[in-house]
Amino acid sequence: MLNMNYFNLGGSYLFSGIAAKVAAYIRENPSADVIRLGIGDVTRPLAPAVVEAMRKAVDEMGDADAFRGYGPEQGYEFLRRAIAENDYQARGVDISPEEIFVSDGSKSDVANFQELFDASCRIAIPDPVYPVYRDSNLMAGREIVYLPCVEANGFMPEPPACHVDAVYLCSPNNPTGTVMSRPALENWVAYARREQALILFDSAYEAYISDRSCPHSIYEIPGAETVAVEFRSFSKTAGFTGTRCAYVTLPDTVAVRGADGSLHRLNQLWLRRQTTKFNGAPYIVQRGAEAVYSAAGRPQVRAQVAYYMENARIIREGLGSAGWTVFGGENAPYIWLKLPAGESSMDFFDRLLNTVQVVGTPGAGFGKCGEGYFRLTAFGDRNRTAEAVGRIVAKL
Ligand code: PLP
Repeated sequence: MLNMNYFNLGGSYLFSGIAAKVAAYIRENPSADVIRLGIGDVTRPLAPAVVEAMRKAVDEMGDADAFRGYGPEQGYEFLRRAIAENDYQARGVDISPEEIFVSDGSKSDVANFQELFDASCRIAIPDPVYPVYRDSNLMAGREIVYLPCVEANGFMPEPPACHVDAVYLCSPNNPTGTVMSRPALENWVAYARREQALILFDSAYEAYISDRSCPHSIYEIPGAETVAVEFRSFSKTAGFTGTRCAYVTLPDTVAVRGADGSLHRLNQLWLRRQTTKFNGAPYIVQRGAEAVYSAAGRPQVRAQVAYYMENARIIREGLGSAGWTVFGGENAPYIWLKLPAGESSMDFFDRLLNTVQVVGTPGAGFGKCGEGYFRLTAFGDRNRTAEAVGRIVAKL
């Protein structure tokens, strides 16, 4: 028998549906100069330090004495140590290498993590947000409580009046480009502790935070170390979307109750899950990720982020000074464009493609509250991004 929950998912996955529309447009207009500011994929090449580290690792794999087969499912100690020291201990957060689980991407991590929870759990999910949280829980047949993120609350999800067992938070946010403040995160940690709820904190875009008052990690909030799991990725911080490397941070102190009231450490359960269903990220890739933290690699990946954030500034200021209302783009590579009253985000997608040959993402694809908004990404080429802004300002 089929899992009928799959039929609650709605249409095709957002980005494939949009890709099909763009492909049809190009088929019908083969000479059109289409600029893509739609899907959130990076365009800058890997940092030289990363490439060099991976080359060296390839040579090792071709050498009988240095060759490696299966590695630890949790990731090599050298990478887990680099992550714990640089991403946490350097920020005053006490995370050890044993609390890090290296993987081949955050998409699978955030989608897989819900497996640890009973089908009866009630899950809170911001609206709009990265669709994977919603779809992976719908597949499992769970009840979802949506948390509206609208202009009135600064697009920041607020704790619901009811109990939930787990909540996904995404900061900096995809798609709104906004970042959660320290007080907003403190409020969530207080809720989670009171309700014995788990926070699933996705900080895939933490490298884009420029506001010094905003935490990069949920563990910068006291008390979070007992109620939060953090998901991070090298995809957007170091251009690894095609190389694939990410990690889950799970402090030893996070414990959740079973139906019989018994308390279990999530760290051990996730280890059990990963060792059963995952055979580790490639050695070559993990050596590349390690180089992100090297003296040479660090400024190189910082320069990539700065390149995209300059694109974000061009979009934000270009459209803003032409009278559009724009959000985000200051602590995230996404700009959340408010559409003229009454125009649906799908209609705007068509108008943008047909009038100025620019591709973006309709806000409705990220949730009901995304209707009336449109996401533009800063991950494009500098000149093409400026060209797209120029076209929109001139013709729309
Ligand atoms: N989390 C968020 C919020 C994202 O926007 C994305 C990718 O767009 C991911 C996770 C997936 O990252 P990865 O490339 O590591 O699978």
